[in-house]
Amino acid sequence: MEISVIAPVYNEEENINRLIENVEKVLKQNFKSYEILLVNDGSTDKSKEILDSVENENVKVIHFEKNCGQTAATAAGFKYSEGDIIVTIDADLQTDPEDILVLYSYLENYDMINGRRATREDGIIKKISSWVGNTARNIITGDDIKDTGCPLKLFRKEVAKSYYLYEGMHRFLPTLAKINGFRVIEVPVRHYDRMFGQSKYGVWNRLFKGLKDAFAVRWMKKRHIYYTVLNEEI
Ligand code: UDP
Ligand code: MG
Repeated sequence: MEISVIAPVYNEEENINRLIENVEKVLKQNFKSYEILLVNDGSTDKSKEILDSVENENVKVIHFEKNCGQTAATAAGFKYSEGDIIVTIDADLQTDPEDILVLYSYLENYDMINGRRATREDGIIKKISSWVGNTARNIITGDDIKDTGCPLKLFRKEVAKSYYLYEGMHRFLPTLAKINGFRVIEVPVRHYDRMFGQSKYGVWNRLFKGLKDAFAVRWMKKRHIYYTVLNEEI
């Protein structure tokens, strides 16, 4: 399998079919084999029924028993995807699947390519809280990622499978990839307003949870184990 695109889905009934259509258009034209993996994180709207009615051999669906959060949905996506390249995208159509190709073009020199929302189409409050969040996270973790929350991210399989994720860690994927020794770059992508459905986060829960978690990442970075094996054969 050349590429897997995974999307967490929590109450996105109006976006699902549009998402599949838009993502598949790009994948069909540019890759020999692909899958779209949709992880239903315990939706309570019609998302489950809509996902179950999809008749497309390139689409895989995972249903959680109940809402477990975006990190859990992302982790399940990583676990069950079979592509050599793995892409994450939100189900809400706020980013453009065409930009997968932009990220893909950096693969020769990088292992993980993180989108950076160049034209951020969110309200001013969200933009400010995102800036505060990124800045504080970077100070705590000693990183310089501008937009860790960008939904569009591309990983070599080795990177996606290297993560051992805990709740909240979907906000630190570029930093965690660097800790694991991978080459990471941020690349501008387009961003649009959410047309259907609602954001699942408020300003405060996003910011404070993310800040607490930053201390865990700081600890992980400090305590990461590095060793070099000297003997050529074992
Ligand atoms: N999401 C999820 N579980 C949750 C919250 C969100 O799977 O508990 C999904 C959601 O359906 C969307 C993505 O994660 O595909 C990002 O959520 P949202 O668009 O609400 O976040 P924002 O763009 O406002 O940061
Ligand atoms: Mg969104």
